[in-house]
Amino acid sequence: MLIDAHSRVVDYLRVSVTERCNFRCLYCMPDKPLSWVPHSEILRYEELFLFIKAAIDCGIKKVRITGGEPTVRGNLDAFIKMIADYAPQVDLAMTTNGFLLNDLAESLKNAGLKRVNISLDSLKREVAGRIANRDVLERVLLGIDKALAVGLKTKINSVPMKGINDGEICDILGWCKERGVSVRFIEYMDNARANKRLRGMRSDEILREIASRYEYEEIGRDPKSPSRLFALNDGYVFGLIEPHREEFCASCNRARLTAQGLLAPCLYFDEASSVKDRIKRGDIEGAIDIFRQVLANKREKNRFGEKATDRAFYETGG
Ligand code: SAM
Ligand code: SF4
Repeated sequence: MLIDAHSRVVDYLRVSVTERCNFRCLYCMPDKPLSWVPHSEILRYEELFLFIKAAIDCGIKKVRITGGEPTVRGNLDAFIKMIADYAPQVDLAMTTNGFLLNDLAESLKNAGLKRVNISLDSLKREVAGRIANRDVLERVLLGIDKALAVGLKTKINSVPMKGINDGEICDILGWCKERGVSVRFIEYMDNARANKRLRGMRSDEILREIASRYEYEEIGRDPKSPSRLFALNDGYVFGLIEPHREEFCASCNRARLTAQGLLAPCLYFDEASSVKDRIKRGDIEGAIDIFRQVLANKREKNRFGEKATDRAFYETGG
């Protein structure tokens, strides 16, 4: 079992397979990074898998593939299959912008992927295009339909931003409700790479907006994620992810592995340790020792309002 310094069981590993992306979202990487990390610096799938396998043996029960945009890395289905074949019981999920899902959803599902979270910040072509800095909406919607059609359990992630998509919260909720797909509204997290003029919405503001059209009641926390859950009076459930809330970190059960082999205990700390050399040498036991040290040093809370991390979310894996 993996336990952190504050007695929290860590059973959820998020794996960023690439920092690269086909979007340039305002809140993540509005400017193309000066250069991408070269492929030679990135761990091969087989190498990432060696670590994941050992982490599963130590108690990891959920693995989420993320990035950057995971679907831009080739042969993702083969990687998914390695994990699914080794541990079919593991809850194997992916977070994606959905742009390539129309082409890939079926092979990913067949490879063993169980669930996807797809980002959808606007239902207006122009606004979605402004957020992602390219014309994306049509293909993202096709991707969502395809994910549902092939039987992937699907959730929507949405980041409300003032003056950009704040007027669409109820529309996005209604759209997801019609499709029977749960939506998680995520509070915008300030970070060094985001557009400096962005102003996010806090959860109380998001809830006020929802209350203008829907009646809801709070029904508790999602046992598998840090979301607070709410139900409309017809039973439809939506969630809020509120990293700025005091108790957000109390039930944190996750750690993050980047494509470059960096193990980060939190999206919002600079602290991280590399397991790349150990993995490259085949010293997986050594890599797991480092993993345990990282967890032993994990802070109790994220550092919002204290010190922003310099590491980009697209590198750590949002
Ligand atoms: N490319 C994939 C995607 O967009 O879904 C996966 C990586 S992305 C970094 C993961 C999630 O983080 C997305 O749902 C995205 O909306 C969210 N995200 C990125 N930057 C954020 C920020 N500054 N504040 C809040 N959420 C953010
Ligand atoms: Fe790409 Fe996802 Fe970042 Fe948008 S949030 S730029 S889709 S990695």
